[in-house]
Amino acid sequence: MTGRATFAAAVLLTLLAAGCGKAGTPPPKGPQPSSLPSYQVQDAAAITGSPTLDAARARGHLVVGAKEDQPYLGQKNPATGEYSGFDIEIAKMVGADLGFAPDRIQFKTIASANRETALQNGQVDYYVGTYTINDNRKKLVGFAGPYYLAGQSLLVGKNNTSIHGPEDLNGKKVCSAAGSTPYQRIQKQYPQAKLIAYDTYSACVDNLITGQVDAVTTDNSILMGYAAKVPDELKVVGPLFSKEPYGIGVPKNDTALRYALDDALARHEENGDWKKAYDATLGLSGVPAPTPPPIDRY
Ligand code: GLU
Repeated sequence: MTGRATFAAAVLLTLLAAGCGKAGTPPPKGPQPSSLPSYQVQDAAAITGSPTLDAARARGHLVVGAKEDQPYLGQKNPATGEYSGFDIEIAKMVGADLGFAPDRIQFKTIASANRETALQNGQVDYYVGTYTINDNRKKLVGFAGPYYLAGQSLLVGKNNTSIHGPEDLNGKKVCSAAGSTPYQRIQKQYPQAKLIAYDTYSACVDNLITGQVDAVTTDNSILMGYAAKVPDELKVVGPLFSKEPYGIGVPKNDTALRYALDDALARHEENGDWKKAYDATLGLSGVPAPTPPPIDRY
């Protein structure tokens, strides 16, 4: 079974154990298509000088990199192949400002460790998937935004009483995604932890549920989604011990695209789409909509 299938099976078992799914019980919480905003496609003829956008225009659709296993952020429905979540809404709202309706966006799953290469090789036009803006990555790719501010946190089993923050990780098995900033932070700042890397956080969560690891670490936004799916088994603990500003990754030298995406984010924050999208997706994991961080037009 794949990691995703295992996690899905664990969720299903828990839901069945909780008595959900019987006639008359509400379906598990998830983005409701009816509450999602719709985005008006703009005339984008004035956006010129972007090689990425020119190629997408010639191709007839955008190719956008995303995650497929992060609840409320970026999730792929295995039955329909459709992607949903806050990051997906961000990708769609800015796509509309580039002249592409949502049905002209093809999403492509790219793992944390492969994002820079995917942007450098032209595998994706832009990337929206819990992607922290930092100076190291800026040497390789560009970032529009930020559009959201997360922070690193810890996910443990519901009955765990020994882990309350990163200083409790000495000798503990901690899982994170290869190539991610949370992985790098544990490696550098908490070298006593036994760090384990997978390609995805859902693989880490499977290992936490079966007791192979003691904790999963990444952004609180991601961990809250996993905990919300199986609240009887998992909990998020401790303070946020980093700042993870999420950006839209773009090819490094395509400043025309980067500024167009900054403009698009600003417009959708202003007109209420950002909040509406948040409320219908990430907001379902329990945290009210924050004010989006200021956009950094570098
Ligand atoms: N925001 C962090 C990062 O960009 C962790 C989440 C992720 O791996 O996507 O590395």
